[in-house]
This record gives sequence, C-alpha cells and structure tokens, in this order.
Amino acid sequence: MKRITLLATILTALVNSSSAQQSANPKDTESWSPVPKIVSPQKSALSAPEDAIILFGGNDMNQWVTAKDQSPAKWTVTSGQFTVKKGTGNIQTKRSFLNYQMHIEWLIPENITGSGQGRGNSGIFLASTGNGDQGYELQVLDSYTNITYSNGQAGSIYKQFIPLVNASKKPGEWQSYDIIWHAPVFNENGTLKSAARVSVLHNGILIQNNIELKGETVYVGPPFYKKHGPSPVKLQDHGDPSEPISFRNIWLREL
Ligand code: MG
Repeated sequence: MKRITLLATILTALVNSSSAQQSANPKDTESWSPVPKIVSPQKSALSAPEDAIILFGGNDMNQWVTAKDQSPAKWTVTSGQFTVKKGTGNIQTKRSFLNYQMHIEWLIPENITGSGQGRGNSGIFLASTGNGDQGYELQVLDSYTNITYSNGQAGSIYKQFIPLVNASKKPGEWQSYDIIWHAPVFNENGTLKSAARVSVLHNGILIQNNIELKGETVYVGPPFYKKHGPSPVKLQDHGDPSEPISFRNIWLREL
C-alpha cells in the first residue's frame, strides 16, 4: 500500500510539473520596457559615441583648467593632441562627475629617456580630491620594457592594484585606456558606505577587473578614504625630467 501511495505521489508530481511547463508562457519572462535609448557608436577610432561628453576633441582645452588655481590649462595643443607642459601643474576637468565610462589615449614619446618612475610618468586621477596629487590615480608610465614596482607600472591603481597583464605598447605608439568608474559613496557622518570600484582596459585588454579601491592614492603610507562628492578628472604633471607625454581623444559618458 505504501508503495502504491509513493507511486501515486510521484505520478502526480510529474503530471503537475509537466502541466506547469505547458501552461508557462515564454512571454511571462520578457521585459519590454524600458526601451534602451538609441546611441550611435563611435564612427571611427578617433571619434566618440553620440552621447559622450567630449573632454578633448583635438582643437582646444576648453574643458580643462589648471588644478591649483582654476586658471586656463597651460598644456600645449598641437595637431589633435595636447602635451604636458612641465612645471605648469596638474590639469583637471571643469566639470565634476560621479560614475562614468571614459576613453583616453596617451603617447609616450619615441625618444623617451629615464627609467623606473622617471620615464613618461603621468597619471589619471579618476576623481580628484585636491589640487595636487590627491585622488585615485590610474598610473600612466612607459612600461614597455621599463622595470619598476608592479603596483606602480602603467595600468596600476598606484600602490594598490597591479594590472592583470602588461598590455603596454612601444614608446611612439598611441595607447588607450577605457575606464568604468564607480565613485565611492559616503555616509552623512563621513564614513565610507561603499568603496570606489573600477574596471580598466589597456589597449583593449582587461587589466583591472571591477576592483574595490582601498582609498585615495597615497605616495607614503596606506591609502585612506575621506568624504567627497562629484569630482573632476585630473591629469598629472609629474615633474620627472623625461620627455613630456601627450593625450588625445578623451571622452566620457556619465552613468
Ligand atoms: Mg603618475
């Protein structure tokens, strides 16, 4: 009798599951809204998506100021690119941002000299929190064959995260970073609610995979967080004596 009851239970379960499958409608799991906004992609390697904010299109530095005093950026614009003018200081965007996707290209000059951290050093502060080198630095450096500490080479989140691979091109060849940045979130009382996160592709290759930053970049000592809101993106005038590097084709999409 027990066996018959068990068999009946199994049969009932089978019938139920099969009828559930028959009555399920594939449309039940389709989502038709919202409809994603139509955005035209880049028309060429040197153009930006339709909905991007152009931070440097090749002609002027109207989107940038000198970080220390907000005066017009003094770096040199020539033929579709701009070049660090050593000694004039870091530059930053006039606008502030929270979460974004950014594309930026940079060039280590073919005749670069120096070694270690003194060879084409610059950096992209993904959120600038002060006029100097405060913020979260994605390192720019010649790392083609140049040896330095791994968490300070090109593509590192300086002194925090080593890039997954070294995707550097030779000096004299343009390189790109594609960055997806999620700003940290802070509580009212200034404590950290959620850490900053970033993914980076270097020359199209994933080198930072949604890592959680330990805090702002610090040259000496451990990184730390301090409360801030939307922030500019800043580029570093490093001050090492090697030949100055250049940037071009910079665009950003707010998320
Ligand atoms: Mg740097």
